Amino acid sequence: MVLNEAFGEPTIAVDTHIFRLGNRTGIAPGKDVLVVERELLRRVPEKWKKGAHHWMILHGRYVCKARKPECGKCAIADLCLYKAKVV
Ligand code: SF4
Repeated sequence: MVLNEAFGEPTIAVDTHIFRLGNRTGIAPGKDVLVVERELLRRVPEKWKKGAHHWMILHGRYVCKARKPECGKCAIADLCLYKAKVV
C-alpha cells in the first residue's frame, strides 16, 4: 500500500476488502492473499493498476460489505459472479 500510495507504484496489496472482492466477483479467486494478488496483477490493465487498490478498498468498504453487500446499488452487479447477490 505504501508503494502504491506514496511512491505511485502500480501494485495491488490485498487486504480483507480486496480479498473478499476478488473472490466474490470472480475477478481474482484464490484461497490466500498471494493468489488473489497475483491474479489481480495479471488481470487489471496496466493503466488502472495505480488506482485499482484504492477503488477496490472503497468498493469493499461501502458497497460490497462483508456481511451485507449492497448489490442493488452496485455499479458492477451485471459483471459480478457472486451467486448470493441480490439485485
Ligand atoms: S454485485 Fe454484490 S457481491 Fe457483487 S461486487 Fe457488487 S455488491 Fe459485491
